[in-house]
This record gives sequence, structure tokens and C-alpha cells, in this order.
Amino acid sequence: MIKLSIPHLAGKELEYVTDAVSSTWIVPLGPYVDEFEHRLDRYLDDSSAVALSAGTAAIHLGLVMAGVKTGDEVICQSLTFSASCNPIVYLGAKPVLVDSEPASWNIDPTALEQAIVDRKKLTGKYPAAIVAVHLYGMPAKMDEIMSIAHKYGIPVVEDAAEALGSEYDGHKCGTIGTYGALSFNGNKVITTSGGGALICHTPQQAARIRFLSTQARENKPYYYHETIGYNYRMSNVSAAIGCAQIEELSQRVDRRRKIHSHYKEGFAGVAGITVQDNPDSKFNSNFWLSTILIDNEITRLTPDQLRIALLKRDIETRLLWRPMNMQPIFEDCPYYTAHNLKGVSGVGEWLFDRGLCLPSGSSLTDQEVNTVIINIKEILSLAN
Ligand SMILES: *Cc1c(COP(=O)(O)O)cnc(C)c1O
Repeated sequence: MIKLSIPHLAGKELEYVTDAVSSTWIVPLGPYVDEFEHRLDRYLDDSSAVALSAGTAAIHLGLVMAGVKTGDEVICQSLTFSASCNPIVYLGAKPVLVDSEPASWNIDPTALEQAIVDRKKLTGKYPAAIVAVHLYGMPAKMDEIMSIAHKYGIPVVEDAAEALGSEYDGHKCGTIGTYGALSFNGNKVITTSGGGALICHTPQQAARIRFLSTQARENKPYYYHETIGYNYRMSNVSAAIGCAQIEELSQRVDRRRKIHSHYKEGFAGVAGITVQDNPDSKFNSNFWLSTILIDNEITRLTPDQLRIALLKRDIETRLLWRPMNMQPIFEDCPYYTAHNLKGVSGVGEWLFDRGLCLPSGSSLTDQEVNTVIINIKEILSLAN
């Protein structure tokens, strides 16, 4: 079976985990957590990373740090994984969904500003935060998003769960917003088995995030709490895996980019198949997942029909994230649509109908990528 994206061992995981266990640091906190954070900071151009138990926890604490409170509204990109949006609800706040633009597939700056202005008009208040996502590793249009956010004084939480190693205009994704969330789940660019990190910009913010993620215990001889805390710190054993993984991070990102180039070459000139690519030189995706758009009128196949046909040939693919405005849990949220290149309203829905994620794990061999390309071409020719 050729899988979508599986963990890729770096080599030293067992050595570091064994060391962590034999040193009896089998707890949240510990030397590997510190070391993992130092390595992340260095990779992320000297930002401050706080290692946490999940990417979802990082988004949650990012929103807490941004000051989101019960009853607030928070803007969230609609075309994303539910983990971008769920933490808004954990805080008793209300998601306001904004559509994507067709180049990056991420939050549309025009629709974003419309949403901000309209929410202020309707509720008297600006949204308390913006969650912008770098979907499949492709950076969002961060310069426009940040200038709109500054204009209205709204903090931005970057969901960079899929975008470790991606860059926008020379800046690492996760370091551009007010806060940035990373994920080290098993399917991501590097893994700690399960884990995440919240990226911030000052030692004071980092100290506050560490405090909140370890139950917000005040500095007293007894347990004393003035703030609601969370149990969100990364364990030392997970961080030991992370330390081994991050040693190979640059190679992992290079490999995913090579796989994407391979798909681009493989599908060049194939009618009805478009490989999603960096819109211009400002964008430098890690290509966590390589994705294609399928023009059903040419291919006579929907993405799901292609997915099923590939599964029968032992190749795992996946439909795009189904937008949040199409989810029962969020369908009553306000939704601000954008327009795609053909003038159709609802870019996220349009992409969902046409997109497919291809096997993209960094452990895939060139031969396996070839097998995927050959099988897709064969299935297409059988359908026509
Ligand atoms: C994986 C992912 C998350 C959540 O990360 P976890 O570590 O699984 O909690 C959030 N947002 C996006 C876009 C993701 O892909």
C-alpha cells in the first residue's frame, strides 16, 4: 500500500527515547523538551517556541494569548481541518468563517476585510482574533492578511500545523502572525508521535504560554491559582523523538518538494489534471501534501471516483478538507464567500469538489511516486 503520509524515522529516535527513559525524565518538561524548543527556535529564525501536547492545544493557547473570551467572535478560514476552528468554541467564542482565494487556497484578504467590517457593523465589536491557515503547506497571503489585521488591531493566529519549513516572502510560516501553531502529529512533516508548539515573539509571551500550559500555578509553596490553566505541555519522551526528527527536518522538506516536482513533471500535459503550485516567487510551500485539481468535464471522473479506483490499486489518496461551512457543527456560523477565477461564489466548495491529495510522505521512493502517476494516467484513460 502506498500511503498518503506516514511517519519517517530519522534514526536516533530510539537512542534519545532510551536516554530519556533511563534518565527517568518520563514527565512533561525535561531536558529534551528544552533542547527540542532550542532547535525549533533556531530553525524558526530565533522565534520562541513552546512545545505542547498537540497542534490543537497550540491553537487553543494561541487564542487564549490573543485575549479571546466568551461571547467574542473569531474569524477562521473555512477551508481547513476542524482543529483550526474547534478551539474557538472551546473558549465560548463564535467562529466567523471566511472563504479562500483560488491561488493559495487560503483565506481571501478581500473577504477577510469584508467580514471584519460587517461584523463590526452588526455586533458593534471587531472580531477578537483571526485564524489563518497554510493549507497543505502552502502559505497564505500573509502580507495582505497582516496589514488588514494591523489596520483593525486584530491579532492573527497562524495555523502552520501543515507548514513547518514553508516560507512566505522569505519568512518562515508560523513566525509571521502574532502567534503561530505547529503540529507534530504522525502524518505531519516531522513527528513527536503526537505534539505541537506555539510560536511567539518575546520571552515574556513564552513564559506566559509555559505557565498556562502547566496548570497556571502561581509561584507559592502551595497550589494557588489566579488563572484557568491547561495541561498542555509536551512530554520529555515525545520531545526526545522530536529532537531526533528535527535533525532531518531540512532533508524532509526537500524530499516533499522533490515529490511535488515529480508529480508536476508526471502530469504536465495531462488534460484535466492541474498540480497545485506556488502562485509566485513569494510563496515557498513545503508541499506537505501534493494536491491536484481534476476537471471532471475532461476526465469524466470525480475526485472520489479516482480515489476509489486508486484504493483498489493499493494507493491511498484523500479528498480535500471539507470546508467548515459544510460541516454540521459549523453550518450555522456566519460565512463570507469569495469569488473564484471563473466568478463562481464559494471557492472552498469549488476546490472541495475538484481536489485530491496524493501520497506525499518523505519516505516515498521515486519509484512509488512513478507508480502513483502511472496508475492515475491509466485510470484516466480507462474512463475516457
Ligand atoms: C494537524 C492539524 C491540526 C492539529 O494538529 P494536532 O497536532 O493533530 O492537534 C490543526 N490544523 C491543521 C490545518 C492540521 O492539519
